[in-house]
Amino acid sequence: MLGSQERFLEMYELGMWQANCYILGDRTLQRAVVVDPGQDAFQMVLERLAANDVTCEAILLTHGHLDHVWSTPQLAEKLDVPVFLHPADRWLWDDPAKAFGNFPPGVLETQFGLTWHPTGDRLQDLRDGMRLTCAGMKVEVRHTPGHTPGSSVFLMRDGDPPVLLSGDLVFAGSVGRTDFPRGSFEEQNDSLRRVVLPLDDETRVYSGHGPETTVGVERRTNPFLRALI
Ligand SMILES: [Zn+2]
Ligand SMILES: [Zn+2]
Repeated sequence: MLGSQERFLEMYELGMWQANCYILGDRTLQRAVVVDPGQDAFQMVLERLAANDVTCEAILLTHGHLDHVWSTPQLAEKLDVPVFLHPADRWLWDDPAKAFGNFPPGVLETQFGLTWHPTGDRLQDLRDGMRLTCAGMKVEVRHTPGHTPGSSVFLMRDGDPPVLLSGDLVFAGSVGRTDFPRGSFEEQNDSLRRVVLPLDDETRVYSGHGPETTVGVERRTNPFLRALI
């Protein structure tokens, strides 16, 4: 996995929205990176980092929706790491309730029991084409707006097979919803055409929800991708 025996990828489906949180790491380097720590991820991530004997270097966010960011401020403080998010989703980081439309102020506390304290000073901007090295792995960032304006995916081409962490852009058999505030069906289709369709068949896709799949399987069977070919 990921090009080396010592590299690992763990996937956990968590919280009321059943969002996938990922921990990718290298046991030789004893380093890891956490992607999308949403609801109920705090304790689980700490336990898995300890079990793998790795230190977290950074938190990467595919987008600003609450099901993917819920535990991030608390976890970033605890681990003392930077948080990478595309600046076009900064409005969601500042107030995740904006994803629900015109909800009254305080809805996160009253509806979900969440006290949101975003720590802006830990935020670092993701940019299209940016290359990060996380836990010894080369990570290519692609900006893929549509589901949200700042939606981004993470591509690791140096492993065998290559890996795409796709957030809510594409799922096994489906694609992201675009009916949330500031979503765009056209932009999402453009992102799918530009970023997902050119990838090799064997590229493994780890989405924000649901099981893993491959680009080849989705190209052949996903009706939303087939419509773009
Ligand atoms: Zn989402
Ligand atoms: Zn989601």
